[in-house]
Amino acid sequence: MKSSEIRDKFLKFFESKGHTIVRSSPLVPGNDPTMLLTNSGMVQFKDVFLGLDTRPYSRATTVQRCVRAGGKHNDLENVGYTARHHTFFEMLGNFSFGDYFKRDAINYCWELLTRVYLLPAEKLTVTVYFEDDEAYDIWANEIGVPKERIIRIGDNKGARYASDNFWQMADTGPCGPCTEVFYDHGADIWGGPPGSPEEDGDRFIEIWNLVFMQFNRDEAGVLTPLPKPSIDTGMGMERLAAVLQHVHSNYEIDLFQALIKAAARETGALDLENNSLKVIADHIRAASFMIVDGIIPSSEGHGYVLRRIIRRALRHGHKLGQTKPFFHKLVADLDIEMGEAYPELREASARVAQVLKAEEERFGETLENGMKILEAQLAKDANNLDGATAFTLYDTYGFPLDLTADICRERGVTLDEAGFAAAMEQQKKTARAAGKFKMAAKVEYAGEKTKFVGYESLAHNTHVL
Ligand code: ATP
Ligand code: MG
Ligand code: MG
Ligand code: MG
Repeated sequence: MKSSEIRDKFLKFFESKGHTIVRSSPLVPGNDPTMLLTNSGMVQFKDVFLGLDTRPYSRATTVQRCVRAGGKHNDLENVGYTARHHTFFEMLGNFSFGDYFKRDAINYCWELLTRVYLLPAEKLTVTVYFEDDEAYDIWANEIGVPKERIIRIGDNKGARYASDNFWQMADTGPCGPCTEVFYDHGADIWGGPPGSPEEDGDRFIEIWNLVFMQFNRDEAGVLTPLPKPSIDTGMGMERLAAVLQHVHSNYEIDLFQALIKAAARETGALDLENNSLKVIADHIRAASFMIVDGIIPSSEGHGYVLRRIIRRALRHGHKLGQTKPFFHKLVADLDIEMGEAYPELREASARVAQVLKAEEERFGETLENGMKILEAQLAKDANNLDGATAFTLYDTYGFPLDLTADICRERGVTLDEAGFAAAMEQQKKTARAAGKFKMAAKVEYAGEKTKFVGYESLAHNTHVL
């Protein structure tokens, strides 16, 4: 089943259950200072859950474009390492705004997975929030999932393993307990069921999360009940596609294979299994859609997330031996794969390619020179990279810290992040002193007191997001 059919079936199913099909919102959330980039389907409905906004419908369904490359949900470091994480992905979702709750949400989910997408029930394992007897009972007694495949998971406080069945959009905002569905990709893949010591493996892959939206978390961490209990679900389109296309990794689905081949064509890589190709295929999607939604590479905020993603991709191209601009050429391939579903991409593709090319030209030379500095340093000490060198790479050669960290991780090198932070701090102090000096001259000249704000707006301050 191709991606387009998967999206279609999802939306039609929920439309048949009285949901209004709503378009994906852009990646930059409107008017929400708590969130840099849309990380899930519920973001465009945040105020509806909070009771601050109303819609002409109480049920909605979407295919939402999402980016997880910073903030509470950050998967940048997972890309190229797991079978299931992207920086950009599409989230299929259904929402109830004070309409149906747990029972219908679970029944719709099961009906769609087993009767529309025809997933074998025996390959599915579900989790519930450890105290949620109501959800447990629906799965066990109404749906008939065998008890050994219903797992109670905590809220990560004091839990032995990383699983967490209490979902929140960000540190503040709507949240609630959840129930999740996992697909078992088979015993030949390493990993264990959620809640087990091997849960971080890629055998049991989480495909769908149904959140029982019940609270708003404020800045002090206090939970207040929402005006009405609601439903927010999210299923990763690429993960479902992997299951439906009988492959294990998201990177093996049709859409990604096309992008990986294109990346190989542009970099000259011969081995299609090379991890760098996966990273490039992932990053061309994130970078392109961010540009479609109005972001341009810069040294702060959204623009710096974009710059980090692009530069990471370029470094992987460099690793494959490509030292000339290549990344922007993949926009045409992305357009073939996704332009139909996203007309905004098709419309903007020439501009997207242009923005990427300009960034490639900007970074090309410093990447080459920075890599030489890095190699020289690692030739001296193959196990540790000092903070001063990492800072020089950052400050003079435009290497975001996560890019340097990515190289260190590949080579098993320890990166002195504290040393990096100290070098950054030192540079700020110097800039401040220089700023005061200039300001003193200006104040004398103008004959009036002026508040110094110069160093606060220095680009270098903002690499940590
Ligand atoms: P995981 O535990 O695998 O990191 P998650 O629990 O962080 O996933 P949720 O926040 O519950 O994910 O998001 C809902 C769904 O979105 C997930 O069940 C999954 O199918 C999909 N999803 C989440 N993160 C990613 C990602 N980085 N790339 C692709 N799909 C994702
Ligand atoms: Mg995650
Ligand atoms: Mg999870
Ligand atoms: Mg989850």
